[in-house]
Amino acid sequence: MNPTTLPHRVLLPLLLAVLAGAAQAADNPRELLRQARDAVMRDPAQARSLAEQTLQALATQPDSDTDTEIEARLVLCDHHAERDPAAARREVAIVAELLPRARRSGLRAGLQACMGQIHEYASDTVRARAYYEEAVLSAEQAGDQDMLADALYLRGYLRSVQGELASALADLRRSHQLFLKLEQANRIANVLNAIAIVYNRMGDHAQARDYYLQSLKRHEADGALREQAVTLHNLGRATENLGDRDAARRHYEAALATSRRIDFPRGEAYALRGLASLANLQGDSREALARLEEAETRIRSTPDQRLQAQLLLQRGVALRLASRLGESVQALQQAQRIFAQADSRNELAQVYDALAQTHAAAGDWHAAYQRGSDFKAESDRLLRLQLDQRFATLKIEFDTAAKDREYALLQRENRATEQALVHEQRANQLKVVVIGLAAVLLLALALMVLRQYRTSRAMHSLALTDELTGLPNRRAVLARLQALLAGADPRCAVLLADLDHFKRINDEHGHLVGDEVLKLIAARLTEAVREPVSVGRLGGEEFLVVLPATDLESARQVAERIRENVASIDPLRTQIPVPLTISLGVAATRGEGDSVSDMLRRADAALYDAKRSGRNRVIALVA
Ligand code: GH3
Ligand code: MG
Ligand code: MG
Repeated sequence: MNPTTLPHRVLLPLLLAVLAGAAQAADNPRELLRQARDAVMRDPAQARSLAEQTLQALATQPDSDTDTEIEARLVLCDHHAERDPAAARREVAIVAELLPRARRSGLRAGLQACMGQIHEYASDTVRARAYYEEAVLSAEQAGDQDMLADALYLRGYLRSVQGELASALADLRRSHQLFLKLEQANRIANVLNAIAIVYNRMGDHAQARDYYLQSLKRHEADGALREQAVTLHNLGRATENLGDRDAARRHYEAALATSRRIDFPRGEAYALRGLASLANLQGDSREALARLEEAETRIRSTPDQRLQAQLLLQRGVALRLASRLGESVQALQQAQRIFAQADSRNELAQVYDALAQTHAAAGDWHAAYQRGSDFKAESDRLLRLQLDQRFATLKIEFDTAAKDREYALLQRENRATEQALVHEQRANQLKVVVIGLAAVLLLALALMVLRQYRTSRAMHSLALTDELTGLPNRRAVLARLQALLAGADPRCAVLLADLDHFKRINDEHGHLVGDEVLKLIAARLTEAVREPVSVGRLGGEEFLVVLPATDLESARQVAERIRENVASIDPLRTQIPVPLTISLGVAATRGEGDSVSDMLRRADAALYDAKRSGRNRVIALVA
């Protein structure tokens, strides 16, 4: 390949692919929404713009995608909640109308969460809390982990603000677990942040600082500038509380710079409040008032009342330092009203303290004493609360650990039971296999025995049967005769039959024809008699007929019938081309003690006579 063509071959398709991807993202609502949600932490303005683009893209699509529209509107609602509550409420109204058509029922939790945020930013924490409770419930009922993680985060955060630190920590930990499971790294940082806030509220500023530092690292890694600004401000507060003013100033300055970079006025105002507080601590009221004035201009359009009150608090302190005591009291009382309404006890205590000092500076000892007592009561209450909350946290942690342990134990037990079940199942399977195998083995054995039996029977009958004619052979027929002679009634007769001139048949027509003749004769012999008479082949063309309980004359008659039968075979009707004749010698028992050989010898002698006297005849030996 020519190397100069490489850039064209590789880069051009790449460029086209990128352009195609961009085009796809530009009108793919889900992709736009994904980007919008991604940008929420990093760049709120871009998140808003992307959410609006999502809605535009949806409007051009033929099929309505209610879920995507709702999710996009929830991003917008979240965005507007802290900046433009009216706009946020408009989104809420539309979402409420869309919800009945949503497939993802957990989206209701998103609506409730946003309503909560609108109220929280308006310092109506009671209603905010109620909405967050509903959001948690809806998400739990829908089994929507995404929504649940968010709702728990919001509720936990608010609980921490309201001083319910132990339950706040429990919420935040659950939320943390869910975000970890859902792999939402930027959200994890938020939760870490919120956990740090709880420690802060418990008066454990060192713990708080460590958590803030952790979450700051995550925010930095995610490039979430807005969250960095918030976390930096919180770090400033924690270090200020720890008495490290230099570190506090560094953090507040960084928070201010970051907020300015992303045009985050609330962040700027918070950072400026921190710097004003540090200036107050150094007795620099001019610096403090300048910072506070700048902060005021930053939040003129935002509705964050608590921030307003915090600015008023610092303003009150700065005005006291500047000896403008009347204005100081005014500012502080204004702050007091807002904190009381928001139930922010910690800040209320600070206001009482500041008021006591201003009254004292003004020589109003009575008022100074009253606010001083309020401060003492409030800070005692706060301390008790913090101790209670630390104790409650320990209890929740202990309970959770105990529950976790119990759960782990239960799971281990379940696993053991499952394993036992599996083992039992396997054992049962094995049993079935063994039984099956045994059955197969038994069957095979039975078949073998049967075959053995049949073979031995076949061999037995083979040993007693003449192969050519199928008649009992010499051994069989002689055994029958022997048994008869040795039995209870030994009287019997025998016929010894021999084919005439059989040699000639063999010689003239061949052995095969000779064999056919032997078979034919055997058949005729068998036909001529019936049980208990038996016929056997002694060998060659000699046959023996054994007739139990038969005297010589009867036997001779049988022999004669046989002879006639053979002689009557029509050579034309059979395959045998020659006339066949046989000669028979007859012998009968003569009393007790006749042996087989006696009988055969006498029958043979008779047969010999028959041959000699011309063949085709029967001779019965009388003597
Ligand atoms: P006779 O009338 O005197 O009995 O004359 P024969 O020819 O029948 O007498 P012999 O005993 O001399 O001949 C018997 C012949 O039978 C001899 C042998 O070839 C024949 N033979 C013996 N067994 C068989 C057999 O199984 N098949 C055939 N085809 N021939 C046999
Ligand atoms: Mg013979
Ligand atoms: Mg013969």
